[in-house]
Amino acid sequence: MSALLVSVFGFFATSLMFYLNHRFVGHGPLGKWPLLHHIKRLHLIHHRNDYNENRNKHLLLPFWAKLMFITAFLLISVISLSFATGCIAYVLYYGWLHHKMHNDDQAGYCSKHHYTHHRKSAKHNFSGTMPFIDKLFGTDLKSA
Ligand SMILES: [Zn+2]
Ligand SMILES: [Zn+2]
Repeated sequence: MSALLVSVFGFFATSLMFYLNHRFVGHGPLGKWPLLHHIKRLHLIHHRNDYNENRNKHLLLPFWAKLMFITAFLLISVISLSFATGCIAYVLYYGWLHHKMHNDDQAGYCSKHHYTHHRKSAKHNFSGTMPFIDKLFGTDLKSA
């Protein structure tokens, strides 16, 4: 398989991992587990400050989370640098779009999808930047 295809696969595999983490850790029973409860706590703080003046303070990842991503990238890159590059590309893409959705893009398709998760139903629209994943898993709630 070409390096580019492997990167694209890493990109979408990470978006799926993000969806599963958001659904089952951020809002689900796995968020009670040791270590994972830190992720859930951070996510709930993000929900409490989603569109207020403190929102950007809670969009930034803490040091331990950045360290976790860098460690994962290094470990995965030992197996496949292309796959790891796709993974990190998704993390950066998500960080950029999520920040944009909470700041200066309220009208975009993904922004509306994410706003619905924040303000209408935290049991839907977990994918953040990839609405088709919610459609695949039946957790899509149409935006207003
Ligand atoms: Zn958000
Ligand atoms: Zn959430």
